[in-house]
Amino acid sequence: MDTQKIEQAITMLLEAVGEDPNREGLKETPARVARMYQELLGGMDKDGKEHLSKVFSAPDSEIVVEKNIEFYSLCEHHMLPFFGNVHIAYIPNGKVVGLSKMGRLVEVYARRLQIQERMTGQIADELEKALDAKGVLVVIEAEHLCMTMRGIKKRGARTVSYASRGVFREDPQKKQEALALMGVTG
Ligand code: ZN
Repeated sequence: MDTQKIEQAITMLLEAVGEDPNREGLKETPARVARMYQELLGGMDKDGKEHLSKVFSAPDSEIVVEKNIEFYSLCEHHMLPFFGNVHIAYIPNGKVVGLSKMGRLVEVYARRLQIQERMTGQIADELEKALDAKGVLVVIEAEHLCMTMRGIKKRGARTVSYASRGVFREDPQKKQEALALMGVTG
């Protein structure tokens, strides 16, 4: 990431909105924003499968549900945050992955310029591939600041997105069961 270029861009942005980039409170702002983007977009050069290489054998496992994995991302249309919870259900094919790895996987796809629907699909695809799972269902519930602090201004409005793979795509009843376990009313 070119942090120097980010600093230049933020200085220009401050000038463009009529600010004085040299005044006390703003002097360090371009450098701070550059550091911030390094963190917030730190998933761009990462690959989700890094975190899924360590799996555990679980031959009898029927369905695994991980609820309320918190995330913060940036929408690529406005570069404003969207944030909320990811819920993941999968039917293992003998292999499961630790809960903390699930959180890491979510981070990889959240820390980049995103749209919620794509992020939902990326997490589902990565899990299906890495675990060879029989079915994967990913649900994301998020609030988008581009909708709630500007534009239509519906505070607290939540967008829900779904991605289903394997048996959850083929069998609506299985999908309903998983949604019920997640506490999401589909
Ligand atoms: Zn947006």
